[in-house]
Amino acid sequence: AEPERAGGGRVPVAVASENGLAAVARAVQRMEAGLTPVEAAVDGVALVEADPEDVTVGYGGLPNSDGVVQLDACCMDGPTMRAGAVAALEGFRHPARVAYEIMRRTTRVLLVGEGAARFATSLGFEAENLLTERARKIWLYWRGQMSAIDDWMATPDLIGDPDVQWFIREHGAIAPHGTINLCAVNAAGDLGGTTTTSGLFFKIPGRVGDSPLIGAGLFVDNEVGAAGSTGRGESVIQIAGAHTIVELMRAGASPRDACLGALDRLVRATRMPYLLDAEGRPNFDVKFYAVNKAGEAAAAAIWAGGKFAFCRAGEEARLMDCASLYPAPPPWLPQV
Ligand code: ASP
Repeated sequence: AEPERAGGGRVPVAVASENGLAAVARAVQRMEAGLTPVEAAVDGVALVEADPEDVTVGYGGLPNSDGVVQLDACCMDGPTMRAGAVAALEGFRHPARVAYEIMRRTTRVLLVGEGAARFATSLGFEAENLLTERARKIWLYWRGQMSAIDDWMATPDLIGDPDVQWFIREHGAIAPHGTINLCAVNAAGDLGGTTTTSGLFFKIPGRVGDSPLIGAGLFVDNEVGAAGSTGRGESVIQIAGAHTIVELMRAGASPRDACLGALDRLVRATRMPYLLDAEGRPNFDVKFYAVNKAGEAAAAAIWAGGKFAFCRAGEEARLMDCASLYPAPPPWLPQV
């Protein structure tokens, strides 16, 4: 893959998944205004968490197989190495903010489910129904067309519904996903990051992916850099993805080479036949994002064609090409 490196100056820099264009711009503004990188990151992704159009994060996120939106998120602060996380949280649109409060107000890292919700309520976060009409219709469609031997059908009005048609166009008829990861570094070289998601579409209730797991969906080390992931979470967990990237950077790799190195490890660890295509390559995608202390940033994907969001102080936020292990977009991705 062609090198895709960005940054290099000692000014605030933010890097995020493709859905994070507005979020990286906001994170950089917030760092310029004096927020720490982790605060700026959590504030940046709040835009995406609140956006009902993004069906992969926060409010409007697609639900689990029961039709319930369960959110995962974490954040990590480089200077203190403190972290906070929530998993399978129901009813709060800003799980990254709840994770931040766990980091700030407790001596613990990860709260899940009911306990995480009670924690959020105790701090005045407002509980609400996160399942939008659009997400509900898409879930009904999914339930209706999953199997010919269960009790549910996808009726023609559902299949023809504009929201369902949009979903089929954008995400394919089956099982894709999304998330936002945002990593940030300020002018002092301090680092922070966050990852927030509604997880895999229609997941098993209670399933937790990589996003809220420190070392998998996010890792920050103020001596080195920050890294995070989107894509098939189980594969990221199995190689401790974000931690692996940071360790490769510690050993001297650029953010780009560190992301590619971790992906190479992930691909070599992908051995189960149900995860492989006819040529023995992963039949899913993972993207890794990284920024180092000097403000160099990059992202890499298993499959070519991916973008990431990047912003450096004084410049417009922009989308850039991810480096990749394999040169062509996978045949199983929806052709749009
Ligand atoms: N990594 C997320 C998860 O496994 C999903 C995604 O980013 O697509 O929950």
